[in-house]
Amino acid sequence: MLYGALEAGGTKMICATGNEDGQILDQVSIPTGTPEETMPQIIEYFRAKLDVPEGEEKIQAIGVACFGPVDVRPNSKTYGNILYTPKIPWRNFPMVKTLRDALDNIPVGFDTDVNGSLLGEATWGCAKGLTDAVYFTIGTGIGMGAMSGGNLIHGMLHPEAGHIKMAPIPGDEYAGHCPNHGTCFEGMACGPAIEARWGKPGKELREMPEVWDLEAKYIAQALTSIIYTLSPQKIILGGGVMGQAQLFPLIRKYVLENVNGYLDTKELRNINAYITPAALNGNQGIMGALKLAEMAAEE
Ligand SMILES: [Zn+2]
Repeated sequence: MLYGALEAGGTKMICATGNEDGQILDQVSIPTGTPEETMPQIIEYFRAKLDVPEGEEKIQAIGVACFGPVDVRPNSKTYGNILYTPKIPWRNFPMVKTLRDALDNIPVGFDTDVNGSLLGEATWGCAKGLTDAVYFTIGTGIGMGAMSGGNLIHGMLHPEAGHIKMAPIPGDEYAGHCPNHGTCFEGMACGPAIEARWGKPGKELREMPEVWDLEAKYIAQALTSIIYTLSPQKIILGGGVMGQAQLFPLIRKYVLENVNGYLDTKELRNINAYITPAALNGNQGIMGALKLAEMAAEE
């Protein structure tokens, strides 16, 4: 079977075609402009995968892993819409409806970008075989996808664990980058917060251990809350900030310090495998979108 996949991000839209084994057969990247600029190019890509020559296989469904917040509630009137995003031209944009209307009512699977990445990792990557896992992206913003009992968590909307409240680390006077909450997790630990606090982008701060020590403390604080609330079997960390690989050992150390022996599980005893980078080399999002398409086709 062939499926279409769209990883819809704030800077680029990746369109791909693949199969049920997670193989990406072809892929294009389109810069994210306004919906009027961007959607016709996306539709043109998938249209060509529907109107194939006689005897060739066409795509059966499309999966979309989308920047948010998004409406993932199946019974909602605005299901499939992008909601109150800071990317103003995309606010309230009906992503699923636009694709279905333009593409012969093809089944469209839809979820957050972070749930998509988690689904990719849970299907083909480092969380394969697990029923409970989380995926954090720590970059321009912070988002979390979560799976519980084998299902991606949505709830009343979807988790927004990038905005959980943080206790500022003593000595850190930074007021926080989040316009809504100031010192929430994203406000204290996203890429722009690092740049605002230290006066330079993270990639120019690699040689300053105090930067990454503080960053790891905030990340560990958030992960500790998630460990207690969702009890994930694995925590996957991705996004631009996590390109600073020196963060991983620090985060693991501070998580164990925070837990302070209160939990004794085989996962925490194997902390290097428990808190881990993504395994799909940057393809976890588009592969997750492929899986969303397969799930939509089966529905
Ligand atoms: Zn916030």
